Amino acid sequence: MPELPEVQTFVNDLQRAQVCGRCIVGLRIHWDGCIAGMSARVFRRHVRGKTIATIRRRGKYIMFDLAGGDGTLLLHLRMSGRLRLNGEPGSHDRLALILDDGRALSFSDPRKFGRWRWVADGDAYLVGLGLEPFDRALTGSRFYELIHRSSRRIKVLLLDQTVLAGIGNIYADESLWRAGIDPELPGNRLTAIEAGNLLRAIRAILKTAITNQGSTLGKGVGHYANAAGQSGRHQERLAVYQRTGKPCYRCGCTIERRVVAQRGTHVCPCCQKI
Ligand SMILES: [Zn+2]
Repeated sequence: MPELPEVQTFVNDLQRAQVCGRCIVGLRIHWDGCIAGMSARVFRRHVRGKTIATIRRRGKYIMFDLAGGDGTLLLHLRMSGRLRLNGEPGSHDRLALILDDGRALSFSDPRKFGRWRWVADGDAYLVGLGLEPFDRALTGSRFYELIHRSSRRIKVLLLDQTVLAGIGNIYADESLWRAGIDPELPGNRLTAIEAGNLLRAIRAILKTAITNQGSTLGKGVGHYANAAGQSGRHQERLAVYQRTGKPCYRCGCTIERRVVAQRGTHVCPCCQKI
């Protein structure tokens, strides 16, 4: 499932490809079900003929702000959604935006959980999301306050998009390993120093993962690839995620898989003791 680094990679790719400033002259809607909140007909009316002013990320959402106050197109990729600029048509394509320079921005999604939504005010719609991990307002002490008031397990807190926005299963496991923290530790048991270490770990890992253009954990159309169809490289850098049974890079103990909050969780039982 695409998380912050993968979603940011799409945003970076589309910005570099100068999609901003282009007018959406047409839409190909192959499956109406990928549009949330309104009919395909009304969605088309809101989008066709509008110019994409900016493209940005908030949590795991891609936001296409339309020029002139014409609202925002929101895209959540969920399990297997992908964006492709000017690629060959595929059997899992659900929607394509046709740009005025002839290019097509295609959305493919084999598992059909991804959703597009047009809203009048994108920021207002996403107001319930937590802080961005790189937000300057998120100091160590602010992060400590956020997690210290909860008795929920720290992994559950990291996955809660109303606490921090953008982290999913891969980068939660990786961050907790780097900080040496047991994913099942209740939030209110972390000290301020441990919370600070965890925030630093989250930022370092997300930053590296963005540089590596995200993680691709399998082959085929159901797995993440960037807007040019290329796999990410961060999967080669993962320390615990999907390394069950392999030795920990830090201490040599065997990585275990547990289930925490119904999510497969990868942990080193020796060096994640806090
Ligand atoms: Zn270890």
